[in-house]
Amino acid sequence: MKVVVIGGGAVGSAVALFLKRLGGADVAVQVIEPDPTLRQASSALSAGSIRQQFSNAVNVQMSRFGHELLAQADEWLGVDGAPVALGFVPGAYLFCATDADALLANHRVQQAEGVAVALLTPAELGQRFAWLRCDDLALASLGLAGEGWFDGEAWARAIAHKARSLGAQWRRAKVVGLERRGARLQAAVLDDGSRVEADAFVNAAGPWAGAVGRLAGLDVPVHARRRTVFALRCPTALPQTPLVVDPSGVWFRTEGAGFIAAWSPGPDDEDPDDLPLEPDLTQFEQKLWPALAHRVPAFEALRVSRAWAGYYEVHAMDHNAIIGPHPDCPNLLLANGFSGHGLQHAPAAGRGVAEWILHGRYQSIDLSALGCERVLAKRPLIEQAII
Ligand SMILES: Cc1cc2nc3c(=O)[nH]c(=O)nc-3n(C[C@H](O)[C@H](O)[C@H](O)COP(=O)(O)OP(=O)(O)OC[C@H]3O[C@@H](n4cnc5c(N)ncnc54)[C@H](O)[C@@H]3O)c2cc1C
Repeated sequence: MKVVVIGGGAVGSAVALFLKRLGGADVAVQVIEPDPTLRQASSALSAGSIRQQFSNAVNVQMSRFGHELLAQADEWLGVDGAPVALGFVPGAYLFCATDADALLANHRVQQAEGVAVALLTPAELGQRFAWLRCDDLALASLGLAGEGWFDGEAWARAIAHKARSLGAQWRRAKVVGLERRGARLQAAVLDDGSRVEADAFVNAAGPWAGAVGRLAGLDVPVHARRRTVFALRCPTALPQTPLVVDPSGVWFRTEGAGFIAAWSPGPDDEDPDDLPLEPDLTQFEQKLWPALAHRVPAFEALRVSRAWAGYYEVHAMDHNAIIGPHPDCPNLLLANGFSGHGLQHAPAAGRGVAEWILHGRYQSIDLSALGCERVLAKRPLIEQAII
């Protein structure tokens, strides 16, 4: 069997890795990726964090598998016994809420999935994090295991390296056409003029998934939405800092001796598609600083060291990934629209897509709740814990 994977970020690389792990010599895998440096790829521009605190069981299960690969990277991703350096720092997410109900609902899902989370009242929060302003919060949830942060680019590269060591081939090119006859894709046309035939094709083009879908005449509703991340310095050290998600949509966490932080627009905020990948420096004064200094008075003294921008690949209907065969063209598999949590879900998505291609069904985590059918039927799988 021949499979073409379109896009060689963390997700495409994970698809290739699991196709070779599960299919061995029976499957020939070509990953088509125009930029081996991943300069604009989300995998290299992310905040590189992992959490177990989602409000859907399938997202929790995917994160659990992502954490397994991170925590046991040498076993899963090592090549020839060389250690795998991902800079993984075990940590915790702290979701702060002014309305306790949403957190309580999420907590019920997390408990059913065996996720270790502590719910903290404002008084308990104040005792644990003396630097945090809590008087306007109703409740917070703190992850107790399976969360932290890592080097996203190193993660994508390690997954790709392992896939190559198992025989997956990388080709430096861009897919500019997809030849479709009826309900089947037959070949990808590359920008060097060549054609690659295959039995199955995987759209792993991250924020550009919509454009790849259009090459096959299909609507893949994924939007490239710019997010600016700021690296910050603060003269006051904050002990035991989790990744704090503020009700304002601003989050921050430690990064080395300083912090990184960003703002995600809410449903009523403007969030245009395809803005150039330049950081929006005005966001610091307009959005981040007021929220950060409110939540942590010591952050009044924050200074910006640098900033960068990357694209969230947003699936606006429900902010959840679209994974699996496209019903109108079943040999095109989607692994798209992760909406800001695709690095941690790359291994589970890659394994699931590989299982589907090789066996026609999911064998480990059942990803059918994330299938394209819900998208076409406009039946959202609502995720409450959106960042
Ligand atoms: C600021 C920011 C913070 C984030 N924080 C987190 C986080 O903390 N945790 C987390 O889990 N996720 C996070 N994410 C999301 C995460 O980075 C993405 O979900 C993930 O990297 C998606 O991986 P991907 O491989 O699908 O896409 P990408 O890494 O973007 O890779 C897609 C690749 O497809 C290639 N491509 C595009 N078009 C074509 C074509 N026509 N032919 C061939 N190749 C093509 C591109 O060159 C690119 O390399 C964040 C994202 C951003 C921007």
